[in-house]
Amino acid sequence: MSSSQPQNRLRVAVIGGGMAGLVLTLFLQKHSPDVQVDIYESAQALSEVGAGIAMWPRVWEIVVQLGFEEELNEIASGSAGEKPSFTYYKGDQPEMQVAFPTKYLARTFHRSQLQTLFAKHIQNVDQVIHFGKRLSDYVAPASGTGEIILNFRDGTSATCDVVLGSDGIRSAVRHTMYEDMAKAASDEKAAAELRQVSVPIWSGNIVYRGLVPVEGLSEDMKADVVTWNRAFLGKNQHIVCYPIAQNKFINLASFVFTPEGEGTQYDGPWVSHVSAEAVVEKFGGWDPLIQTLMKGMCDPLAWAVNRLKKLPTFSSGRVALLGDAAHAMTPFQASGLGQAIEDGFVLASILSQTNVTVSNVASALKIYDKIRRPFAQNIQRLSDANGQCQHLRQGGWEDVTAEESLRGGFAQDRFDGVSELLASHMKWAQESSVMDDRDEALRMAKELTA
Ligand SMILES: Cc1cc2nc3c(=O)[nH]c(=O)nc-3n(C[C@H](O)[C@H](O)[C@H](O)COP(=O)(O)OP(=O)(O)OC[C@H]3O[C@@H](n4cnc5c(N)ncnc54)[C@H](O)[C@@H]3O)c2cc1C
Repeated sequence: MSSSQPQNRLRVAVIGGGMAGLVLTLFLQKHSPDVQVDIYESAQALSEVGAGIAMWPRVWEIVVQLGFEEELNEIASGSAGEKPSFTYYKGDQPEMQVAFPTKYLARTFHRSQLQTLFAKHIQNVDQVIHFGKRLSDYVAPASGTGEIILNFRDGTSATCDVVLGSDGIRSAVRHTMYEDMAKAASDEKAAAELRQVSVPIWSGNIVYRGLVPVEGLSEDMKADVVTWNRAFLGKNQHIVCYPIAQNKFINLASFVFTPEGEGTQYDGPWVSHVSAEAVVEKFGGWDPLIQTLMKGMCDPLAWAVNRLKKLPTFSSGRVALLGDAAHAMTPFQASGLGQAIEDGFVLASILSQTNVTVSNVASALKIYDKIRRPFAQNIQRLSDANGQCQHLRQGGWEDVTAEESLRGGFAQDRFDGVSELLASHMKWAQESSVMDDRDEALRMAKELTA
């Protein structure tokens, strides 16, 4: 592991080499050559689930700042900015019905291609990423500028000045941070609240994720499905479908919502293997074309969709959280990674200021928390709200039963309410920019004194 070097203004430990950790590192290396970055990753190698991921224009604006737009475009499928991307259909009926087009523009990627591209651009990647290092906890001095000690499951340890936790929804960094805050709380009630708020909860959703190789489809179907940037709505169920990897695969994410499960602790493994046939059975009564496509999924996985509650802070002392460790959300805005990328961009911009040193970095991380937390938590909220629309539980569909929905025959204007709600929820992703927040963060960081 890298040792302290005098020329480094800060030594930053990034815990977790998922996409949040990689992008943060890219931004840190780009903007802060005098900051030493080490990534500690529990796995023995980088890996991502075989599935797709979408990026909205607000996120694209930031990612291109990393300087490899052309390479990103080469691995992207989907609209390059000119044409509407997603069209909503109603899918839980004998024949799918166009519900409404949207103006949402998205680039879509194969996750592992995107991750490989990010990793490829990390300078000195072999020295920077330390594999097989699962953090168990860290020990931070109560005050001052002393080293933070990182303890790993394999019995080894390392030191740093700053800990950035990008270790996902089950974050060990978050656990340690909130446990330390609970120990320091004024009374037992406050301590219990801090311990409880940092525990993930089940959203009530299971998502069946799988890729369909286009090659294996009939010629007719092939030509059709590679144009499917579609979301299929149904009662308490919905499917997101788009081509990835230059149309080699169709990404299918098929959701089943159990209202009683929402907010409970998920009892069982979060990820398990499932057969394509078992998934098709859950979507009985849906358009046969959708069912045929589903049957082609290779090795689908069933994921319990868990999320975090609204954390009261993303930072404590010289430790901060980002990505799913900070704001794991339901995927109904396709924005968990996008928000992680925004976190990394803003955080790295703040830490790039040369007046930010070990003595004031805790204040710098408070600026990150102040700027990023309200925004990301609003997206968490809007993601849940989108789920309600996509599962036909709002927008005029509240009283329609699953049986009625399966019969179909709905007038076109029945979709107006859902269409309007979704458009208002998604406006930020299409029309706003993170640059104002970045500028405000920079202004505040520049005012920090040692
Ligand atoms: C079905 C579905 C569809 C989605 N679609 C989209 C989409 O289209 N667009 C979008 O923006 N988002 C989407 N998301 C959300 C997105 O996948 C996540 O928000 C994002 O991948 C989180 O990245 P992360 O790096 O924060 O966490 P993770 O990907 O969970 O990475 C955490 C990393 O930390 C490592 N780690 C864990 N614990 C430790 C430890 N103790 N010590 C060291 N390392 C550790 C892990 O091995 C892992 O590498 C979707 C999510 C789902 C479930």
